[in-house]
Amino acid sequence: MSISEFGLIRRYFTRPLSNRSVNQLGIGDDCALMAVPAGHELAITTDTMVEGVHFFAGADPRQLGHKLLAVNLSDLAAMGAEPVAVTLALTIPKIDASWLSEFSQGMAQLAKQFSVDLIGGDTSSGPLTLTLQAMGLVPQGLALKRSGAKVGDFIFVTGCLGDAGLGLKIEQGYYCSSPERVLQQFHQPDPRIAEGLRLRNYASACIDLSDGIASDLKHILQHSGVGARLDWDKIPRSKQVDEYIQASNDWLLPLTAGEDYQLCFTVDPDKVASIPIECTQVGEIEAEQGLRIQRSGQISQLEDKGFEHFS
Ligand code: ADP
Ligand code: MG
Repeated sequence: MSISEFGLIRRYFTRPLSNRSVNQLGIGDDCALMAVPAGHELAITTDTMVEGVHFFAGADPRQLGHKLLAVNLSDLAAMGAEPVAVTLALTIPKIDASWLSEFSQGMAQLAKQFSVDLIGGDTSSGPLTLTLQAMGLVPQGLALKRSGAKVGDFIFVTGCLGDAGLGLKIEQGYYCSSPERVLQQFHQPDPRIAEGLRLRNYASACIDLSDGIASDLKHILQHSGVGARLDWDKIPRSKQVDEYIQASNDWLLPLTAGEDYQLCFTVDPDKVASIPIECTQVGEIEAEQGLRIQRSGQISQLEDKGFEHFS
């Protein structure tokens, strides 16, 4: 049975709105309408996932739906914004009912967890390309920017680093005796929304780790006009990542592999004792420009090995 573009939108993507005070009009008209509450700013972000670039052909559609939303919510988390709405630009080669059903459910399940409404989008035929725009609210002036880090601030991360990178290696054939947790991190990351919200009055700067801390922390350093030193021994790592490093000697993985979607943030020393979330201190902001890593008693420059699309 074939359905029209409008039938597709109705069947797979139209759901009752949960955030009615903000989302005044959802799918169906030329535009959606949002009412931004007084005293708030709207945080807006977009991420695209292209088949063959960001995910393998034939990837599980339910996981894709989850991940597309998760990577966008992660950007909102990094700003300390509370997610309220998303729009979806969907380019698909053909109408595949089971693919659409799985994809939309993967997205809807995570959306429900954070009370995010899908309020509009666009649907087109073409090579599989998934683009989501996410919108969130943050009280005026409280957004966590990349630009506020000061010399002497401590650097923290949530969770463990390198799990998603190891998950990718496992998908590419690396043997791991207990892969479940890292594969879950890779395929279905959990956006750190609650942590981002709690950091509003604590972090001087914040970023989410999409490309690896070696590359992402540099954005904080550049925007803030400072440098930093990371301490290898303090980098939080799962048992699986430590086993991988022992076997391969690839100790850079937790620093340079992408897609962990944890938060990396800086905190003034006076506020460190009262940080309201679970996190690990991994380094310190310094006046000397650049990013250094201290390992086995030696300090060396940490090269930027983040993924670049056009290099
Ligand atoms: P227009 O021609 O005005 O761009 P469309 O025909 O593209 O409108 O879309 C009709 C309605 O469905 C709009 O409200 C649009 O936001 C929504 N929509 C289209 N595609 C999607 C999608 N993939 N997910 C959610 N909403 C969608
Ligand atoms: Mg349209």
